[in-house]
Amino acid sequence: MTLNGKTALVTGGSRGIGRAISVALAHAGASVAVNYHKQKDAADAVVKEITDAGGHAIAIGADVSDAASVTTMFESVTRQLGDVAVLVNNAGIAHQRTIDTVQLADFDEAIRVNLRSAYLVTTAAIPAMRRAKWGRIIFLSSVAANIGGAIGPHYAASKAGMLGLMHGYATLLVKEGITSNAISPGLIESDMTRVLVNVTPERVPVGRYGTPEEVASIAVMLATNGFMNGQNIHPNGGMYFAT
Ligand code: NDP
Repeated sequence: MTLNGKTALVTGGSRGIGRAISVALAHAGASVAVNYHKQKDAADAVVKEITDAGGHAIAIGADVSDAASVTTMFESVTRQLGDVAVLVNNAGIAHQRTIDTVQLADFDEAIRVNLRSAYLVTTAAIPAMRRAKWGRIIFLSSVAANIGGAIGPHYAASKAGMLGLMHGYATLLVKEGITSNAISPGLIESDMTRVLVNVTPERVPVGRYGTPEEVASIAVMLATNGFMNGQNIHPNGGMYFAT
């Protein structure tokens, strides 16, 4: 099955994992809305890469942690590309803190940008998916949700919350043709991991970071496989064994 005729929205599609997912979904046939927050040039470059390859994409700026911005983003995407059928909740931040330096402000920020955003965007996407009786919702959680990780407890909590959201939607929407699943990557090469302190590829059992493309192929599988629901997939090079 391809995604021909489907519209996908990738939050934080301008860089890293979101960029690779945007390109891969377009390659699978979807028209892709590439969301960015501040780096318009990066989003425009993703759109150019997709359109140069014969695909269809637009860049759409919005702070997905802000309700009004999310509403405006959906109006614009729907007007330009049609109803969103595939939603990838990928946008996120990772401000590394130690147990001595983490502050309440870090916790609030992580919950707002990583978790509240996913709730806001998914809430905006659900009505059209229900009308179409078809939808795919994909959450980018993290290995940190299960084993703590290298960023800090604020980040791990925000990513664990995404799994709860995913399970809630997977239970409530599957009978309407809408699946919800999560991907929980380990350390992946991106701007996010480049700035981490005391983190090296030796930390990963396979001896290297993963690539954004290795995560993107899972997103395409989840978007095209209607029998997957409520699952959390772990591309992590062996850092954590799911049972
Ligand atoms: P990057 O830092 O490379 O990219 C982050 C993306 O999120 C950018 O496109 C950025 O937009 C966007 N973004 C950040 N804040 C907002 C906001 N408020 N509104 C809209 N967009 C926003 O991250 P990665 O590609 O590494 O990570 C992608 C996701 O995967 C994140 O959720 C991350 O937590 C998760 N993850 C990453 C891992 C890794 O090792 N890299 C491991 C496990 C999970 P802009 O370009 O405009 O700044």
